[in-house]
Amino acid sequence: MKLHATLLAAACALALAACGDDSRAPDTAAPPASTPDATAGTTPGTDDATTAPDAGYPAPVDGTAAADGTTPADGTAAAPGDTATADAQPAAGGCSVDVEGNDQMQYNVSSITVPSSCAEFTINLTHVGRLPEAAMGHNVVVTSTPDMAGVAADGISAGASAGYLKAGDERVIAATEMIGGGESTSVTFDVAKIRDGGPYSFFCSFPGHAALMKGTISVN
Ligand code: ZN
Repeated sequence: MKLHATLLAAACALALAACGDDSRAPDTAAPPASTPDATAGTTPGTDDATTAPDAGYPAPVDGTAAADGTTPADGTAAAPGDTATADAQPAAGGCSVDVEGNDQMQYNVSSITVPSSCAEFTINLTHVGRLPEAAMGHNVVVTSTPDMAGVAADGISAGASAGYLKAGDERVIAATEMIGGGESTSVTFDVAKIRDGGPYSFFCSFPGHAALMKGTISVN
């Protein structure tokens, strides 16, 4: 995994722009899982007379083209815009999500939705930058949102050798190891831990990073 990531990082160095595009492609290709039930029901009752001749379009099935009922033929305009936002949607039926951290102290996602059908959920973290762990380390820590600041502060006190997490911190629901540029890691946790209560957040516990590297995680 690390070798692959290193090669990927090397490829990025050769073609930064293209690599950036590639890294976003999986997100935009993913189905907008959160929208279908909200919009799919609007078309049949509102303008079935005008759209009936075009009934062969599969758009109503995924709901992306049915939002306003006026653009069944070119409804693709709705989906890319929605998925361009920084929501990390797991692949359909998948109980995992891919998160990237970069040398600009950023994740590529600001929210994670865990399908309620999952018993366990895996967060895969890839550091797509090139800076070493000591300078730009990244991890993913899941806590309740109110616990986030305290866990981050205690993590800084614990220091680099502890991966910037206090040993045995019971507020930590899940945490990956701290990694540097070109490395990957993952953590799997019991979804029951975030099914009730909340809200819950994820963040990087490297000193100062949680100011930018944070987001929400919820079961839906
Ligand atoms: Zn970080």
